[in-house]
Amino acid sequence: MKLKNNTALITGAAQGIGHAIAIGMAREGANIGIADMNIEKAEAAAEEIRALGVKSLAIKLDVSKSEGIAAALDRFVQEFGRLDILVNNAGITKDGLILRMKEEDWDAVLDINLKGTFLCSKEAVKVMAKQQYGKIISISSVVAFIGNAGQANYSASKAGLVGLTKTIAKEYASRGIRANAVAPGFIQTAMTDGLPEKVKEEMKRLIPLGCFGLSEDVANAVIFLASKDADYVTGQVIHVNGGMYM
Ligand code: NAP
Repeated sequence: MKLKNNTALITGAAQGIGHAIAIGMAREGANIGIADMNIEKAEAAAEEIRALGVKSLAIKLDVSKSEGIAAALDRFVQEFGRLDILVNNAGITKDGLILRMKEEDWDAVLDINLKGTFLCSKEAVKVMAKQQYGKIISISSVVAFIGNAGQANYSASKAGLVGLTKTIAKEYASRGIRANAVAPGFIQTAMTDGLPEKVKEEMKRLIPLGCFGLSEDVANAVIFLASKDADYVTGQVIHVNGGMYM
């Protein structure tokens, strides 16, 4: 078990990629905090994780609002004693071409995807610096590196997150904190399920491996970064995209 007795707080973990990360980490022996907007879905995920034989706690959290974040981390540390791993996974899209993109759609995406990662990481480093150990792993995207028509807000937020990750890595390496990112390509989730079949087929033609990835493919990269195997890795981005960007 790669994460035995570690504690991990994962944002947006009630469904999709975050949920797969939570399940994967629990199978590796970690105790898991599921932080999500929807507390009923988060409770259901926590229940599922407890059935795997580890501890799990559901926490209602909006990552874009600074007010609740310190309290959520306090709650987590009270329950589990320490915070070894933070996964900044919560993210949204509000697509539109730049000319038609509303300012509120720009703000909403940047507030959750980028500011949310900053706010959660800021609270996490306070705890991790005292422990002299911690892993912060943030979920970026392939579009941070190649852009995507209709996703100015989303690609900017995910590119910003890479700069933030490298900065945390430099500022906190001396305190034993590693910060890395995982950049998924197209992954089969609720976020991509809604796309028209024709668009999905066109996307698959851009992927050398010829198919969308699974949430578990992303989870495996996150688990590697969270584990001791990656203790000498910081400030890096692991690309999980079937080869669509190299
Ligand atoms: P998802 O299925 O939409 O799941 C996202 C989760 O985050 C949901 O449970 C959502 O809760 C929660 N969330 C949204 N806003 C939040 C907030 N302010 N505070 C706390 N939780 C919040 O998305 P996914 O496809 O699993 O994506 C997970 C991450 O991977 C995102 O950062 C996404 O950008 C990234 N990613 C996904 C893909 C892909 O192909 N799917 C590719 C590259 C990167 P509600 O449902 O209650 O809003």
